[in-house]
Amino acid sequence: MKRLFTAVLLCMATITFAQSVQEGDFKKQFEVYSNKYAQEVVDFMTHKKFKGREAGTKENFKIMEFIKGEFTAAGLDVQVQEITAESLAETIGEPKPGKTYPENMGNVIARIKGKQHNKYVIVGAHYDHLGKKKGLGIHPGADDNASGIVALLSLAKMMKSSGITPEYTILFCAWDGEEKGLLGSKYFVEKWFVTRAASDSICYYMNFDMVGRTATPEHPAVTFAWNDNYPYLKEQCTKVAEKIPGPFRILYDQRFGDGKGGSDYAPFSARNIPFVAWMEDEMHEDYHKPTDTPDKIHWIKLRKTVLLAYGILFGWVN
Ligand SMILES: [Zn+2]
Repeated sequence: MKRLFTAVLLCMATITFAQSVQEGDFKKQFEVYSNKYAQEVVDFMTHKKFKGREAGTKENFKIMEFIKGEFTAAGLDVQVQEITAESLAETIGEPKPGKTYPENMGNVIARIKGKQHNKYVIVGAHYDHLGKKKGLGIHPGADDNASGIVALLSLAKMMKSSGITPEYTILFCAWDGEEKGLLGSKYFVEKWFVTRAASDSICYYMNFDMVGRTATPEHPAVTFAWNDNYPYLKEQCTKVAEKIPGPFRILYDQRFGDGKGGSDYAPFSARNIPFVAWMEDEMHEDYHKPTDTPDKIHWIKLRKTVLLAYGILFGWVN
């Protein structure tokens, strides 16, 4: 309860930060976002040599190395949080009957140190996917979730290149094992509350999962889900959305801190951390199919989503 109270206080303070941000401040970094880079990341991650990036495989390990390299090239401090099957069982409990955990996984965690070094804003997206399925072949997972990794890497580049020392420490986290039950993000959150000092608090979590496609290509849309125990989260979004050139539509999807949800925001929700989650406007027919390919990505929608997310993030840390 004490922790929750602290988080609320911090977030209240943040509204003032967000309100003081002028549009010119964050728009300067919009040009750092590159469609070409977005396409390169999606093409790389969906290449058949990585066999659909199943958690625990050597192919997915190479994706982990790639993400680590991209964060490093952008000038961030990077660490891999290694996760063994044993440590996972100890931390989040044994796998469901008939299931096993991968022997080795890893969350890639890149950091920009803030003025308040022990207050954290966390941005996350999973990099693993379903792998190769018997009779179906490779699942490339372009939308799920190479698109989210584009958002994660682009935001890190934008934030770092702004040269600003953020108010809070920002962690950019590429989660492993999402498709096997949110394993990487659950591990991270549970470990946090066991190993961190009480003074280390998570003020805000932002998730990206399936942000590369839209059911209405002429007028692209994205879903913004938020923990409405903190109603200002939605206000921050509507405020910044006015600054993003159209056509662009935001579908608002109210959530609470109850741990419900099918992506990596759920472990944060279970702790009632103020979270927002960017996701698909409508579940498409290629969801979890070998047909989730790069040619179907709506690059303009992806870009607009990242710019909007950047504006919000900028408000949080300035
Ligand atoms: Zn996903």
